[in-house]
Amino acid sequence: METKYISCIECKGNIEVPDDAMVGELLECPDCGKIYEIKEVKNGKIDYKEAEAISEDWGE
Ligand SMILES: [Zn+2]
Repeated sequence: METKYISCIECKGNIEVPDDAMVGELLECPDCGKIYEIKEVKNGKIDYKEAEAISEDWGE
């Protein structure tokens, strides 16, 4: 199996995508920590977008 990568928009680094990656899965850039969300997996191609920063501070 060949390893798939997506490239980080922020730092241009390669982010490894697991073989069993599914839509909605979050991937973190090992270099800058930016989070990407998989939008679509089709014919071995990965479509992805920047994920919103996950914040546990919802504030009241
Ligand atoms: Zn990065």
